Amino acid sequence: MELETKAIQAGYEPKNGDPRMIPIIQSTTFKYDTSEDMGKLFDLEASGYFYTRLQNPTNDMVAAKICAMEGGTAAMLTSSGQAATFFSVFNIAGQGDHIVSSSTIYGGSFNLFNVTMRRMGIDFTFVDPDCSDEELEAAFKPNTKAVFGETIANPALIVFDIERFAKAAHAHGVPLIVDNTFATPVNCRPIEWGADIVTHSTTKYMDGHDSTVGGCIVDGGKFDWMAHKDKFPGLTTPDESYHGITYAEKFGMGGAFITKCTAQLMRDLGSIQAPMNAFLLNLGLESLPVRMPRHCENAQKVAEFLEANDKVSWVNYPGLPSNKYYELAKKYMPNGTCGVISFGVKGGRKGAETFMKHLKVAMIATHVADAHTCVLHPASSTHRQMNDEELIAAGVAPDLIRLSVGIENVNDIIADVKQALDQVE
Ligand SMILES: *Cc1c(COP(=O)(O)O)cnc(C)c1O
Repeated sequence: MELETKAIQAGYEPKNGDPRMIPIIQSTTFKYDTSEDMGKLFDLEASGYFYTRLQNPTNDMVAAKICAMEGGTAAMLTSSGQAATFFSVFNIAGQGDHIVSSSTIYGGSFNLFNVTMRRMGIDFTFVDPDCSDEELEAAFKPNTKAVFGETIANPALIVFDIERFAKAAHAHGVPLIVDNTFATPVNCRPIEWGADIVTHSTTKYMDGHDSTVGGCIVDGGKFDWMAHKDKFPGLTTPDESYHGITYAEKFGMGGAFITKCTAQLMRDLGSIQAPMNAFLLNLGLESLPVRMPRHCENAQKVAEFLEANDKVSWVNYPGLPSNKYYELAKKYMPNGTCGVISFGVKGGRKGAETFMKHLKVAMIATHVADAHTCVLHPASSTHRQMNDEELIAAGVAPDLIRLSVGIENVNDIIADVKQALDQVE
């Protein structure tokens, strides 16, 4: 099946007389005829459901769809993108371990790593995704357990060289985890480029309609945990909390990671997505291959308009030939990158504030990557406690506008941006 067909049909095959649509199994628990039947589930001897804190059939059908779209072997939904990021790392790293991460990642992921997970005893080295081979090599330590990066960084829009980082990770016997939120599997499938685990904030384009917070983890099934037995004891030695099961032996390369993540982390931390939300996410997934090209086409036109406008001091969009990442974007995302653009308005912070005040179609929101065009001026909202010097040090220019181009008619979006720019002195 091609991607468009998977987006509609993968994950759920109705039998004769079954509902055509994925059913919402709104049930916390599941009934069994005998204790023995249920016991087999607890021992992971049989697959099935017993409690929605760990697994729910609606969620699993939707996860299976995303898994098919990414070309993976197993997947699970989580309650948020943050939970997906946390689980993807915590499933293979604990106290005393170390992770190499791209420095240009989503701010929430950076805080999770640099503050919260450090407090759990996990060490992180952040590398510039454009660093030299020597710098990348020097980032690895004997206790490194994974490499982490983002296909297109939110909000920096830096394109991550997946193949290069996959090679480096594999040379050190560790997997590459890629957050593919902004590209979506429609524009890039990191597993095809060597990534081992893919994560998503499904809150963004996958849901696509501002309706549900959610996340997903997909295993590419190509990383051989047993070949690096000492590095990943959680997968390669018996789990005493699960009757001595060794995940990598029992579930193989294709299933070990997600089974362990479900059986241990979901069991203990309970970051499950509500089945109703999984249902809504599925609606978004069905139209994702239609929506993504429209986002990219609209954003390309808006970026070109901005680049030619004399009230605009700079434009950052990987689809522009003037962009530093244009070639890399062409390699990994030949059909387009995403709908998010950042640019600077002349007149600095004041010019940007004037621009924001006059927008009518673009809505002011902290959100990005969905059907509605939305816009944010970090210096006067999310980052307003910082002065200009502090903003520049944080990599957020005082004049920076982040514009997430939706799927409205592009002429309306451009006309709105134009009239607001006209107000800037
Ligand atoms: C939003 C986002 C996240 C976090 O996802 P939530 O669903 O908000 O928890 C992670 N990674 C990227 C790239 C994001 O844009």
